[in-house]
Amino acid sequence: MRYEFPVTRTTKPKEKPDPNNLPFGKYFTDHMFIMEYDEGQGWHDGRVVPYAPLVLDPAALVFHYGQEMFEGLKAYKNVQNGRVQLFRPDMNAQRTNRTNDRLCIPPIDEDLYVDAVKAVVSVDADWIPEVKDTSLYIRPFIIATEAYLGIRNSSKFLFVIILSPSGPYYPNGLQPTRLYVEDTFVRAVKGGTGEAKCGGNYACGLKAQIIAHDKGYEQILWLDGKEQKYVEEVGTSNAFFVIDDEVITAPLRGTILPGITRDSCLRVLESKGYKVSERLLSIDEVVEAYDQGKFTEMFASGTAAIISPVGELKYKDKEMIINNRKIGPVAQMLYDTIYGTQIGKIEDEFGWVVPVED
Ligand SMILES: *Cc1c(COP(=O)(O)O)cnc(C)c1O
Repeated sequence: MRYEFPVTRTTKPKEKPDPNNLPFGKYFTDHMFIMEYDEGQGWHDGRVVPYAPLVLDPAALVFHYGQEMFEGLKAYKNVQNGRVQLFRPDMNAQRTNRTNDRLCIPPIDEDLYVDAVKAVVSVDADWIPEVKDTSLYIRPFIIATEAYLGIRNSSKFLFVIILSPSGPYYPNGLQPTRLYVEDTFVRAVKGGTGEAKCGGNYACGLKAQIIAHDKGYEQILWLDGKEQKYVEEVGTSNAFFVIDDEVITAPLRGTILPGITRDSCLRVLESKGYKVSERLLSIDEVVEAYDQGKFTEMFASGTAAIISPVGELKYKDKEMIINNRKIGPVAQMLYDTIYGTQIGKIEDEFGWVVPVED
């Protein structure tokens, strides 16, 4: 089924930012998609409207108990034919419903979800920047809007999609980052919300992030929440290690966000014949491999940066310099393959690209 939504166009289009100097997530386009949920009625009145502040009751449940979820994906212009395209948006729709289930937010029809993304992107298609390493970042999110101070599931929600023309997530692009292995705070525990994409996971991680920043590190490597022994995620992205020609990432056991970029990396690596493992990897094993000269590469994966190589890892008193602080061959291959597929520079071998207009 194909969903259509009414469009109200802005009468005051904004000036577009300079595409050569684009920060990440700071500028927003002229329109947004909104849709309400009311108990008894379901999701209704999806529409594209001019970008504007939301007016909410100060008692709205989201402000007090944090019932909220979000997603992130990107739109690109195909470098061969200029068509606007998305990357695996069906995966974002499916993950939304898994997150919604965990947070007691009603599910959204997955075709409707993808058509809503297409609708707002196509209205603001002229906002998609075309300079290298830029894209239109898409941020769908849902908040609980019922005005009520008791703790229970909201009977009203708002689903919104906003768009942000963005440059590279890390201003230095593929420059390897320095990571601090966090051994005090934890991000997620089994049975918690680690595998859901929700604001609460981020609010509780900020403190560790700020402390690591103050020590001169760009990001955190999170360890598991129970034993603080196994490597889990890098800040807000998934983590990959190359040890003795084995490419390793943490298994999905409920505490890891099932990244779409993580999945894409695994599929590309497998198709190219790499030895790939989703398995528990202790920080001690990483240190031991480092001392034996077998820890050759590390990188993070996520929609925003795609692939972000790691040049240094600090665990307690141990400083590990990885691949001479240079991007390694596995990270470079994955970046070239995934970004190349997204912008249509290389063939879409896996059928991941979805055109916005057909
Ligand atoms: C969004 C996110 C990721 C990356 O997921 P992608 O689908 O690849 O963008 C990884 N970890 C966390 C905690 C996240 O929120």
